[in-house]
Amino acid sequence: MTQLWNFGGGIHPPENKSQSSNRPIRSAGLPARLVLPLQQHIGEPARCIVEPGQKVLKGEVIAQVGNGMGVPVHAPTSGIVQRISLEPVPHPSGMSDTCVVLIPDGEERWCELVPQPEYRKLERDKVLALIRQAGIVGLGGAGFPTNIKLRPSVDRKVDTLILNGAECEPYITADDMTMREKADQVMAGLRIMAWLLRPSRVVIGIEKNKPEAIAALRQAAEGSKTEIAVIPTIYPSGGEKQLIQILTGQEVPSGGIPADIGVICQNIGTAVAVADAILQGRPLISRVMTATGEALAEPGNFEVLIGTPASHLLTCAGVSKQHMSRLVLGGPMMGYTLQNTDTPLIKTSNCVIAASASELPAPAPEQPCIRCGLCAEACPMELLPQQLFWHAKATEFEKAEHLNLFDCIECGACSYVCPSSIPLVQYYRFAKGEIRLQRAEQQKSDRARVRFEARQQRLDREQQEKDQRRKDRALAAAKAQEQKTSDAQTTVQDGTVTNERSGKSALVEQALARKKAKAAAASAERTEFATQLSKEAAPSETFTPEHAGKIAVAETVPSVEELEQQLTQVQIKLEKMQSMLEDARSGQAPNVDKLERAVDKNIERVRRAQRAIDDA
Ligand code: SF4
Ligand code: SF4
Repeated sequence: MTQLWNFGGGIHPPENKSQSSNRPIRSAGLPARLVLPLQQHIGEPARCIVEPGQKVLKGEVIAQVGNGMGVPVHAPTSGIVQRISLEPVPHPSGMSDTCVVLIPDGEERWCELVPQPEYRKLERDKVLALIRQAGIVGLGGAGFPTNIKLRPSVDRKVDTLILNGAECEPYITADDMTMREKADQVMAGLRIMAWLLRPSRVVIGIEKNKPEAIAALRQAAEGSKTEIAVIPTIYPSGGEKQLIQILTGQEVPSGGIPADIGVICQNIGTAVAVADAILQGRPLISRVMTATGEALAEPGNFEVLIGTPASHLLTCAGVSKQHMSRLVLGGPMMGYTLQNTDTPLIKTSNCVIAASASELPAPAPEQPCIRCGLCAEACPMELLPQQLFWHAKATEFEKAEHLNLFDCIECGACSYVCPSSIPLVQYYRFAKGEIRLQRAEQQKSDRARVRFEARQQRLDREQQEKDQRRKDRALAAAKAQEQKTSDAQTTVQDGTVTNERSGKSALVEQALARKKAKAAAASAERTEFATQLSKEAAPSETFTPEHAGKIAVAETVPSVEELEQQLTQVQIKLEKMQSMLEDARSGQAPNVDKLERAVDKNIERVRRAQRAIDDA
């Protein structure tokens, strides 16, 4: 007999399981439309690979994932993609998300399936890839991709594989009925998982309130080394950490995962999905769900296609809308109220409760905490729910984290026993959400800081390169100077000068000579101008010795004063000519053309006189 251990806390709420466990599993059939959210699990959402109007086959991939954490989504039946749009999805907030809406054609035509009954001949990685391609996630509620869970890191040796058949939450009987009716498939899936993990111990934990399931599995497991452990009925014994503690006596460390202590825990429904995927080649397109509650005439368990609207399942179970006051998705302890009855049921949905007003009455108004301590007694994680509540309410999230807020499994046991009707779990969910948001913000700002620092480094590097280029230029200039010096030395060697210093002097003298030559050229130009002016002053006079003297004077370089006098003269002459031109024009005299040419000539003279002064 398997040794069992206890965990602290726990409660005994009314089970209410018999309503849904007295009929065999039925098919929920084909709804008028299927709504398939692209994200149905923890991890990255799948990417839609179909288009509106496209025909798809049953089992065909309609949304694919990359290399990250995620699994694909498959068409649950053959039909036509009607649209890809935002639709309400199962979430406490009633939020919408991207979904593929599929209209079944009623033909149920399968795509090609590739069963692998000889999976033991394959590489283990290949089998894990097949599990991933089949879109399998944990069907217990958390929705963690199964292939990832079945491949723990190399530093974690798994010695115990646990199959969780506890199903402790009231009302839900999906796993119970699966174990009763599909015990062989459960065992087949368990064998595949055990082959992948090679543990030394394999155990199925079942609460003792499921005698038929226990018998069925004992029979199916006959001859194998699998233990069937019957555990006490207490909520939440089906919590992963609690079940591990009951079956192994070990506690999963705070913030850790079961693999840290060499344990992996899988759900009953997940084992069936793994068996279907490997032995039949069938992807995860349906699951067993419980439909129960006093507003249903025929509550029970149904094989439901993923994407079926909750309203369709309720119709199958004979819902009386007049009696239904609340529709809860999940169990009464951990589930939440659905705002929209057309919300689709997804891979992680295990139960819908169509409750009457008396069955699940609206919660009583919240009262002040009376510090009774009942919540701490009920907590299976040995937390301090009351203190967590104070800190969450006061938005003192750091203090709540120090009290291990993230170890809370949101089982709702504390809220259930609270005499002040404080919705404690809602406070914890709020606090966790805020902390995750803050972390995301922190990561964002960290990324921005890293980007800023990288930019700063780049700018520093560019500045250094700039400085280096400047130094290189200075070096080049110094070399050029050296070259000049060398040229001077060459002059010395040529014998033009006798030493280096003299060579430099020679170069300076050359420069001075060039400057003098330039000045002489300017002077010559001025002289020429003066000469020309002199000639123009007496163009028709006969040459006399007196004229010769004037010319001789004019051929010397005129002073600035003389140039200014000449400028004044030519300006006066220009004004006179312009006046004559205006008179001639007004009198329409015949010499207008001649005067115009004379004015142009004098304008040019004025310009030249001015330039001569500027040069001087
Ligand atoms: S059970 Fe409720 S009233 Fe009692 S200590 Fe906890 S929070 Fe306060
Ligand atoms: S909801 Fe959290 S705090 Fe409350 S009993 Fe469960 S684990 Fe403890």
